[in-house]
Amino acid sequence: MITVNDFQFNGKRVLVRVDFNVPLDDDLRVTDDSRIRATIPTIKAIVQNGGRPVLISHLGRPEGEKVEKLSLRSTVSTIQSLSGMNVTFCDDCIGDEVVKMTKNIKEGEIMLLENLRFYSEETEGDLSFAEKLAANGDFYINDAFGTAHRAHASTAVIANFFEGKKAFGLVMAAEIENVNKVLFSKEKPVTAIVGGAKVSSKLAILENLISKLDHLIIAGGMAFTFIKAKGGQVGQSLVEDDFLEVAKSIMDLAEEKGVIIHLPIDSKNADKFDNDAESHFSSAYKIGDGWMGLDVGEDTIKELEPVIMGSKTVLWNGPMGVFEFSNYEYGTKAMAELIARATKKGTFSIVGGGDSVAAVKKFGMADKVSYVSTGGGAMLEYLEGKTLPGIKAILD
Ligand code: AMP
Repeated sequence: MITVNDFQFNGKRVLVRVDFNVPLDDDLRVTDDSRIRATIPTIKAIVQNGGRPVLISHLGRPEGEKVEKLSLRSTVSTIQSLSGMNVTFCDDCIGDEVVKMTKNIKEGEIMLLENLRFYSEETEGDLSFAEKLAANGDFYINDAFGTAHRAHASTAVIANFFEGKKAFGLVMAAEIENVNKVLFSKEKPVTAIVGGAKVSSKLAILENLISKLDHLIIAGGMAFTFIKAKGGQVGQSLVEDDFLEVAKSIMDLAEEKGVIIHLPIDSKNADKFDNDAESHFSSAYKIGDGWMGLDVGEDTIKELEPVIMGSKTVLWNGPMGVFEFSNYEYGTKAMAELIARATKKGTFSIVGGGDSVAAVKKFGMADKVSYVSTGGGAMLEYLEGKTLPGIKAILD
């Protein structure tokens, strides 16, 4: 994989697509700087290799309008303090003036261009907009894994203008390498925990992963479609009746391929979707009418413990229950702790794709797993086996 470390830039401008889509408070202060922090090594590598970084990003959804409160200017002081470098802000991202400014960047200085999505051509993947953007750099680096699944002007189309002068940034390279460690793992047994709300949204992941696994743990709301397909009584739990046959075929496929599927054994049930609902435990296969399973119980975790502890590679996507409710967070928290314990004894573990990332952060486990993906939707599509436009554009 070609990265920013494979070039000597010799004083040239290096256009870097970063993901600075950070949350801002009412006073336009950055409230979570992790995306900016993650990109600092890439920026430093560019400078060390003799390049002059020109950063481009989107922020929020201005939908082609210039929306002052979505200006990337709000991120300047954070970039400055995290990098220790001077940042010059340019209040547009295309045009002669911008090109002129980029040609005057001083050594050791960073230039940040204005929000790409102030132009609708960005998300439309417009070729001439991509060409105008490309005029701001001599090399192109993509370090925005979070938008790699979009064929936007700055994430994919632009790469056409940098034949032989394009590479991945270090965030992007780490994401790809870490997910590939699971998808192409030789460190077996390999276990995936796929949880969350709906089978329909995780189907492609299950289908792509199944041939690569030894164990598949299905949990969260989506487990009930499988349990019902096996003849269990699931009460008012989340079920997608249209997917009962699909669930059966996944279980058949797993059996054919020698993959062991684990479903919850016990369930913590609520009489309504509310943290303060009445609750009780039952078998996950015998949930009474009027009750819905919102979490797993201790029996499930006890059964899963040797599976996780015995795995060499673990991928976790999607919570075990409604972890946002304190009364139903047990299973998700227990899974985070199990994975942390396995990691400590040498298992390679990766947590990725939306809510399980929020969960490990909530339970303070983010630094106790091997890798936490920042990818969100891009990570999900990568796990589905899709070729992401942002990755393809660099590799082509
Ligand atoms: P997803 O985005 O598909 O990974 O789903 C994450 C959401 O699934 C979280 O907001 C959880 O609250 C929800 N979830 C997990 N388990 C259950 C369950 N048993 N019933 C309903 N929703 C659930």
